[in-house]
This record gives sequence, structure tokens and C-alpha cells, in this order.
Amino acid sequence: MKILFTSSECVPFIKTGGLADVVGALAPVLAKKGHDVRVILPLYTAIPQRYVERMTHVTDFEVSLGWRRQYCGIEMLEQDGVIWYFVDNKFYFGRSYIYGMGGDEYERFGFFCRGVLNALPLIDFQPDVIHANDWQSGMLPALLKIQYAHLPFYAGIKTMFTIHNLQYQGIFGIKEVQDVLGLGDSLWTNDKLECFGCANYLKAGLVYADLITTVSPSYAEEIQTAYYGERLDGLLRARKHQLYGVLNGLDIVDYNPATDASLAATYSPQDVSGKTACKRALQEELGLEISPDTPIIGMVGRLSNQKGLDLVDYIIADLMREKVQLVVLGMGESRYVNLFSWAENEYRGRVAARFTMDSGLAHRIYAGCDMFLMPSQFEPCGLSQMIAMRYGTVPIVRETGGLRDTVLSYNEYTGDGNGFTFFNYNAHDMLHVIQRAMHYYRDEKDVWKLLQERGMSGNYSWDRSADKYVELYRGMIGEIALRDPSEPEDEFIPVAEAPAAGKEPGAK
Ligand code: ADP
Repeated sequence: MKILFTSSECVPFIKTGGLADVVGALAPVLAKKGHDVRVILPLYTAIPQRYVERMTHVTDFEVSLGWRRQYCGIEMLEQDGVIWYFVDNKFYFGRSYIYGMGGDEYERFGFFCRGVLNALPLIDFQPDVIHANDWQSGMLPALLKIQYAHLPFYAGIKTMFTIHNLQYQGIFGIKEVQDVLGLGDSLWTNDKLECFGCANYLKAGLVYADLITTVSPSYAEEIQTAYYGERLDGLLRARKHQLYGVLNGLDIVDYNPATDASLAATYSPQDVSGKTACKRALQEELGLEISPDTPIIGMVGRLSNQKGLDLVDYIIADLMREKVQLVVLGMGESRYVNLFSWAENEYRGRVAARFTMDSGLAHRIYAGCDMFLMPSQFEPCGLSQMIAMRYGTVPIVRETGGLRDTVLSYNEYTGDGNGFTFFNYNAHDMLHVIQRAMHYYRDEKDVWKLLQERGMSGNYSWDRSADKYVELYRGMIGEIALRDPSEPEDEFIPVAEAPAAGKEPGAK
């Protein structure tokens, strides 16, 4: 099958969040399965020079955007069996930032979507499926259906649109978008492009794509409710027969404690002794008291409301009354930077907070901590909890979205589970569960070891998810009949495939 991914970010070239990890890992896995996979993204100035030097020029042309005619170059490089294309325009992408500060995002990503569609005949690639991701690519399915589908070259191309985070929608003024993309007045009704008086690029993708997916089965259900739906729940309910949840995987080569070069010591499920050295090294690196018996709770992620940090704010004094250390790595809202800066000063030697993007330190935190806290208000999939488990760090999470699909709470009666969870968005429920985890850490070491082993031997690879995407692509082009997404599927918890200690963990 011929598949084109469109994305605004993608590892290893450029990353701000999970979207980059997903596209960068999924495309090569699909290519390995024998498909012709290509990815197209903007050529930002921030893409490292070592990649730019390897690019070759494919073609260039002009893109019409209202009264503007803009240069559009297509550069390419080949890597991991995938062809990666880059859309070159210095005016739109030659800036010091990737998103958000220019006030002309609708024009930048409108240009991107139109540039991609115009490029296809010129690069001689007629995909079976265009797989568009998040609001930056949202206009592509709409433009394809409205302005291109009458041309024979485009008529047979199907589109999949994947939601990585429903909160970010790309909301702009209708007049501004019309000025750039030339979409007539009749299209601006609420069954098409209009959304609460505005243009909404994510909604455009949801209305016009042939299939919609999101990154976990639970999030696919949740976003059809008013609480999680970000004002698009009605539309998502209307399209529920075309809305599938496919759980993300991890790059298991990059995240491997047995080979990770950024760690003080490597370790594996068979021999976890290196983790003790990693813990000590982390305490030294961050200026924490060296104490092998004190549990360290880690948090790595964007410091945003989504991540449930107000719950931590609410109980931090109670938490620090326990014998515990807290490590935080993240960038984001100033209220949380203030909170953790204050805590670091208030609880010297017991709290450490770093507000940078530092992948090496992130790896050392995943390895050196005992517990990983992720009390998200909502979580489309979440990669951090899976990385933590792979590094033998026991997750404590709220039961939402992908967290619910990957972490099963330890059940002392059946022995099932791979972590600790709570359901209500409530600070004391969270505190209680942290205390429960600390009890097992301190007093029931066998259980703790079992939870670590299960986490480390879980199956987080992309293989299974990639097969699901292929099935959906095949359904879209009419090769097979698809299952209705509202019919329940077999529950999949990654740990269920990884027997440990003579028992089938996660088995019901
Ligand atoms: P989201 O996509 O909502 O940001 P995910 O858990 O899906 O959250 O993915 C976040 C990814 O970004 C993880 O790989 C995490 O380790 C990484 N990450 C987040 N913040 C930082 C940081 N400050 N330094 C290094 N890595 C980070």
C-alpha cells in the first residue's frame, strides 16, 4: 500500500511532544512490513543541519493562497526505509519557533496542506491513503474533498485523520482563513467548516476525513462525552462509526535500559541490580540526599493543566510528610514552575525540579526513580507511563485515556496488575494511592519486585498497533470490511502478553 503521513513534527528531525514520537516510529515500522511509506513535514530552521545537508531537491513550484503566490520547495531524504519530504518556504518556516507566536498559523499550515496536495503529481506519488495528524494537517482532508477530488489524480485518495490531543484545535477567524484558502461562504455552516463562529482546522479534519482515529481506545470513547469532548463531542458522536482508538507503542530500541548509554548502569528484567546504581547517580546529579531506601517519585512531562499538577499542588505538604523524594522535569506554565521551585527550596535535598528539555536527564529519571506519577486530567495515550514501566519504575496514574489502557491497578486478592491507579480527579484519592504504593515498596518487597518485572517485560512495541493501522487503511480502500468501532474489542493491556513469575500477569 502507498501511504503518505503529513505531520507538523516528527522525530528525529523536530519534536515538541508525543506526535513527533508517534509518526517517527510508526512510519519505519510500516515500511518494514513492505508498504511504500512517505512522510511530509515543514522544513523548519530548527531541523538540525546534519539532516539538511543530506537532503536533495526534488521540485519547486508556486502555491496560490488568495492573492499571494508563495514559493514551495520539496526536499527529501531517505532513512529507515522511508522517504521523508520537507516543505520548504523560508517565510513560513524559517522562523525561530515552530508553533504559535506569529499570529499567522492559519496561513502557515494552510500553505502546508495546500503545498502537500499540489506536490503529489509533481513528485509522482499517488498515495492510497493520506494519514493526516492533528490540527496542523486538519485542512488537508477538507481541501482534498472540496477542491481537488474532481481531478482524476486525486479522486481515489482516502484520508485518515488522527487526533493526538483534542485540546489543540487551531481556531481562527473565518474571514482570514477564506482569504488564504478561498473556501466559499456556503461551506461555513456548522455541519461543515464553521465551529462556534470560527474556523477550526481540527474540526475540518474530523468532518472531511474518511476515517478518524485517536491514540487509545479509552480516549476514543471519552472524547464522545461533554467532559472530554472539548466542544466537539457532538460531532465525534455523529462520526462514532468511523472513530477508532489505536494505542501508541514505544521506540523500544531508544528506550531500553539494557543498552541506554545515558544511564550510570544498564539493567534488564533478568538482572535489575543496575537500577540501584541509577538511583544513587540520580540523587547525586540532582543534589538529593543519598538514601537507597527512600522511594523517589518521578514526573516528566509538559507542565500543563492537562497533566493533573493542580492535584500535586493541593497535597504536596501532606506528601512531603512521608519519607519520600520528588523529582520533576518539565517545561510549561509558570504557576507550576513556581510551585516546584518553591518546593525544591522548602524541602531541600528531598525535592529536585528542572525546567528544561533534556532527553538524557529524562532517561536517567525514568531509570533512577522507584515510582512514576501521572495523575492526568485527560491523557490521549501518554508515552511516559510506558517508558517508566520499561525502566522498572512503577506507575501511579489516574484512570483516564491511554493511562487506563496501559496501567492495571495491583489487586492484592488476585495478584493482577502492573501499577497503581485512582479514578476520581481528587487530590486525596491520589495521595491515598501513593501511600498504598509506598506500603508495597517498603513492606511487601516481593510484590514490588513482581510489579517492576511485569512493567519491564511488557510489550510496548509498535508492531501490534501498526497492524491495526494497516487493517484500517485496507478497510478505507475497500479491500476488507471493517469492524464497527462501537463493538467492544478484546481488552489489551501491554503487560498481559508478558508472563512473569510463573503467572499470567494481567490475566482476568
Ligand atoms: P504529551 O504528548 O502530552 O506531551 P506524552 O507522555 O505522550 O505526553 O509524551 C511526552 C514525551 O516527551 C515523553 O517521551 C517524555 O519523556 C518527553 N518529555 C516531556 N517533557 C520533557 C522534558 N522536559 N525533557 C525531556 N523529555 C521530555
